[in-house]
Amino acid sequence: MTIKVAVNGYNVIGRRVADAVALQSDMELVGVAKVKPDYKARSAIQKGYRVFAADEKGEKLFKDFGIPCAGLSRDLVSQADIVIDATPEDVGSQNKQMYESLGKKAIFQGGEDHNIAETSFVAQCNYDQAVGRKFVRVVSCNTTALCRVLHSIDEEFSISKANVVIARRAADPDESSKGPIDAVVLDPVSIPSHHGPDVNTVLPGFPVISMAMKIPTTHMHLHSLIVSIKGTPPTDDRVVETISNTPRVMTVSSKKDGIKSTANVMDLARELGRPRNDVFEAVVWKDSIKVIGNEIYFFMAVHQEAIVTPENVDAVRAVMNSAKATDSMRMTDQSLKIIPN
Ligand code: NAD
Repeated sequence: MTIKVAVNGYNVIGRRVADAVALQSDMELVGVAKVKPDYKARSAIQKGYRVFAADEKGEKLFKDFGIPCAGLSRDLVSQADIVIDATPEDVGSQNKQMYESLGKKAIFQGGEDHNIAETSFVAQCNYDQAVGRKFVRVVSCNTTALCRVLHSIDEEFSISKANVVIARRAADPDESSKGPIDAVVLDPVSIPSHHGPDVNTVLPGFPVISMAMKIPTTHMHLHSLIVSIKGTPPTDDRVVETISNTPRVMTVSSKKDGIKSTANVMDLARELGRPRNDVFEAVVWKDSIKVIGNEIYFFMAVHQEAIVTPENVDAVRAVMNSAKATDSMRMTDQSLKIIPN
């Protein structure tokens, strides 16, 4: 069965997800929908994607700019089995009515509230909860990374509580209107930030307390984690082994790889020849992992633009009930050249 997929919203997340869908042998990218014609629309057409306008005003602009427009987003959605909504925060909830009226399944992103969908989703944690559902929400970049590592640590050592301080990139690289900033901005000042409770939408078994701030960088988020466990404290090496064996987590070493910063991680992605320098994995520094008492400490970097790409592809297979979790993740990872653990 070939699953016909529409991507509504075509920028940071939508462009990556559309490219990933186009790589899947069991999926067909029906097209992408954009508000305005621009270089991104031209590049989509060069890749062979059909581009649709969000509304009549946009459709007219496409004509004025001489960029072929295949119709309106409503036409795109009607031609698909499922739509991946990659529009900005809170726009997805407005689009939901259209998907419902056309009887289509949809995947939403982490900018939407948990209750927009029947379940929030991280493939390796709760794939089966999304099987056959109508609406699923792929959680945000920070939540995805936290769920991947915490799920794995919990399975092995049983977590009682997790604390995380998140230094967030201030803006995505092309968002020049939001930066540069010359400050560390507490975002929010109140504690916890939304990230911990959002992890609990996927992993409800232990409290996750998060604090967050924006820092003057565009490329990655940096998490500092302290995870309390219930049982006998493991050795550092056992925790390194557990995290290194976690799917979609890349472990690096400052000593052996010379990777000491998020800049080095992005440079590694360039060396690996990744499209757009994308790092689909959560990146954990092996030599930061330390067990003190019953607490596990470590640093983790998150490429905010890329990490949810594989989850969106898996969410499509889960919702369409077309593959088991392990098979879907294997297909997705092979297509994106994610290095197996
Ligand atoms: P974005 O603003 O970069 O892209 C969204 C695109 O959708 C824009 O091009 C916008 O013009 C377009 N759009 C707006 N209304 C539309 C409509 N009605 N129909 C079609 N297109 C429309 O946003 P993004 O960063 O790609 O984020 C999308 C979602 O993914 C949000 O929920 C966000 O919270 C989430 N997310 C973002 C990141 C990130 O770091 N950027 C990471 C993980 C999750």
